[in-house]
Amino acid sequence: MFRVTQPRSFATLRMTNKVLQMILVQKYGGSSVANIKKVKNVARRVVAAKRKGNQVVVVVSAPGDTTDELIDLAGKISKLPNRREMDMLLSTGEQMSVALLAMAIHELGEDAVSMTGYQVGIITDEVHGAAKIEDIDARRMKAELAKGKIVIVAGFQGKTANHEITTLGRGGSDLTAVALASVLKAKVCEIYTDVDGVYNADPRIVSNARKLPVISYDEMMEMASLGAKVMQSRSVEVGKKYDVPILVRNSMNNAEGTLITKENKKMEKVLVSGITLNEDEAKVTILKVPDKPGIAAKVFSKIAEGNINIDMIIQNKSTTNYTDISFTVFRSDLKRALPVIRKAAEAVKARGIQVDDNIAKVSLVGVGMKSHSGVAGKMFSALAEKGINIEMISTSEIKISCVVDGRRGKEAVRAIHKKFELGKKK
Ligand code: ADP
Ligand code: ASP
Ligand code: MG
Repeated sequence: MFRVTQPRSFATLRMTNKVLQMILVQKYGGSSVANIKKVKNVARRVVAAKRKGNQVVVVVSAPGDTTDELIDLAGKISKLPNRREMDMLLSTGEQMSVALLAMAIHELGEDAVSMTGYQVGIITDEVHGAAKIEDIDARRMKAELAKGKIVIVAGFQGKTANHEITTLGRGGSDLTAVALASVLKAKVCEIYTDVDGVYNADPRIVSNARKLPVISYDEMMEMASLGAKVMQSRSVEVGKKYDVPILVRNSMNNAEGTLITKENKKMEKVLVSGITLNEDEAKVTILKVPDKPGIAAKVFSKIAEGNINIDMIIQNKSTTNYTDISFTVFRSDLKRALPVIRKAAEAVKARGIQVDDNIAKVSLVGVGMKSHSGVAGKMFSALAEKGINIEMISTSEIKISCVVDGRRGKEAVRAIHKKFELGKKK
C-alpha cells in the first residue's frame, strides 16, 4: 500500500535503527482531547510513556465533535461543497489538537513538536475525502525523535504529490496511527479512546457487553466495516497487512484493553465475535423496473460510473413483468447519489425511486460461524420475538446482516446479544 522513505546515509541509518527498537505510537481520539483538561491528561500520559524510555510518536484527532461541526458549517453554505475545499476545512480540526497538545507537553518540561500530515510527508492519492496513503516519509519524524523530542502528528490527513491537502475518511486518525507504526516499526500502536477496549457489542448500547482481551485482525475488520466505530476498518486492514500489533485502551484509566493481532490457536474459539449496528446507511428502491435480463447490469453500472458505493441489494422474481430493486448507500453519499440513481432509473424506464433514510443495519459477526448452521434462524427469531420486521438480509461466511426500521436498531442489537447469551458472566 505504501512505500517508506528512509534516511539515506549509513551512519544515520545505524543510529535510527538502534533507536527504532523503542518507538511507541499512541493515538488519542477526539473524545480524549475534547477539552483542555483532557488535553492535559493526554500530555501527562504521553510524557509518562517517554519517561519510561520510549521514543513517542503521538497521533491526535480533532477535539470532540469538531469534524461534525465543520461539516455542518460547510452545509450552511453549500449543499454539495467542493471536495478539495472540504478537505482544506476538515484538516484544520486535527491541526488545533496537535498544537495544543505540544504546548501542554512543553508545560510538563518535555520537548515536543507538532506536525501536520503535509509536514510529515504522508503522501496520498487524489481522492478527496477518502484518500489512500501511498507513501510516508519517515525522515523528519526520526530526526526529531533522535533529538529527544516527542513527535505529535495530526491524524486523518495527508497531501497529494501535487501538494493538495487530503483527508483519509471518517475515523481516519486510526489509519494514520497504524500506518506510522508500520513505517516506524513501532513495537505497538496504542489506540486510546473513551471505552476500555473492543467489546462484543457497543457498550453504550448493550450495558452487559463483554470486553474481549484479544481479537483477530479479520474479526475486527469485519466488525469495524459493519459499524463498530471503535476502530476504522481500513486501519485494521493495514495493521494486518504489515503485522502491527494494535492495542485499544481507555485514555482515562489503566484498564488492560484489547489486543488486535494475528489469529492464533490460543484464541478462544467463539461462534459469534460480536453484534454491530450501522445507522449510517439509507435504503433506495427503484420502483417498477421491467423484469428482464440486463436491467440490473444497466442500473448498477450507471451507479458505479457515478462513483457511488452500494452495500446490500435485493431484487425479487416478480409475478408480473415488473419488479422493484432495493439497495443501500451511505447516507453521507445520498445527496450526491440521488441524481445519479434517478438517471439510472430513467434509463431503464422504471416508475421512479423511493428513499428511506431511517434504517439500521444490525449484523452478527463470527469467523467461527462458517461451519455452524442455525445461526441465521436464531438471529431472525430474536428479532421476531420483539416484533421487529426484517427489510433486507445479506449473508456471507462470517456475518449475517439485517436491515430494520432505524428507530429499532438498538433494540435489535440488544435482543440478538441476549439471544446468543453474549453478556458478561456473573
Ligand atoms: P475516538 O474519538 O476515540 O476515535 P470513536 O467514537 O471513534 O472514538 O470510537 C469509540 C466508540 O466506539 C465508543 O464510545 C463506543 O460507543 C463505540 N463502539 C461501537 N462498537 C463498539 C465495540 N464493539 N466495542 C467498543 N466500542 C464500540
Ligand atoms: N476527526 C476525524 C473524524 O471525526 C478523524 C478521526 O477522528 O479519526 O472522522
Ligand atoms: Mg474513532
